[in-house]
Amino acid sequence: MTAPQAATAAIAERLAKIRASIDSACTRDGRAPESVTLLLATKTVPAERLALAADCGATLFGENRLQEALPKHARFREIAPATAPRVEWHFIGHLQTNKIKQVLRFADCVQSVDRLRLVEQLEARLAREQRQLQVFVQVNTSGEASKYGVAPEDAEDLVRAVAAAPHLSLCGLMTIGRLGASPEDARPGFRQLRVLRDHLRATAVLAPDQGALSMGMSADYEVAIEEGATLVRVGSAVFGERGTPDTAYWPESVAPPSET
Ligand SMILES: *Cc1c(COP(=O)(O)O)cnc(C)c1O
Repeated sequence: MTAPQAATAAIAERLAKIRASIDSACTRDGRAPESVTLLLATKTVPAERLALAADCGATLFGENRLQEALPKHARFREIAPATAPRVEWHFIGHLQTNKIKQVLRFADCVQSVDRLRLVEQLEARLAREQRQLQVFVQVNTSGEASKYGVAPEDAEDLVRAVAAAPHLSLCGLMTIGRLGASPEDARPGFRQLRVLRDHLRATAVLAPDQGALSMGMSADYEVAIEEGATLVRVGSAVFGERGTPDTAYWPESVAPPSET
């Protein structure tokens, strides 16, 4: 086997393993395996490896930073012209309003909508460009002041604002689980997001097709599925540990407690 073939085989094997454990988590829970979508969180992963993942059937990538995502997206389309048309790109990092124009150059969806000003400015820009954008409202369920996302008690107002914006297509809610010593530490936050979604549906703030739940990462996606995730964002379990610590991507986040 050549080195690229070996790299492809390793990615294929990890993807198959994750998909199988997603499917069995669904089955355990009485859910259809198709009810959970796998997004690959691709921060620090070069376009060449994304091309291998796409060859293995990956169709959804999530990026955190524009300075990394824009050149990578362009490079990916250059080196993977056959698979590029079926790949969707989500922005999953913190979005500054002065970066809206740039994010719209590559993203099919922004999962990190967390404040009114961002809703207003996205809507204004999209209206000018005469296009739609899929979005999730990001909710801070971890109780950590350092994490991004709207506070749960303010989520309803933000969801209403997104739902009322003609150029935003609301998919649902997103959260980053509490990073703890055990995946179980993330469960209460995931449950809180589902309860919030159910409440917003019951009160018709969310339409039936706006109930997606983006939650769960490498360490806790099975717990997230048990709590109703419809989209899990997995990075290191597919691509290996990152050299860059996540604190570089979540600038204000605190390191997870080593022991709790
Ligand atoms: C990095 C990242 C992930 C994936 O993290 P892993 O632990 O590598 O699976 C998911 N969501 C967001 C927002 C991320 O930044």
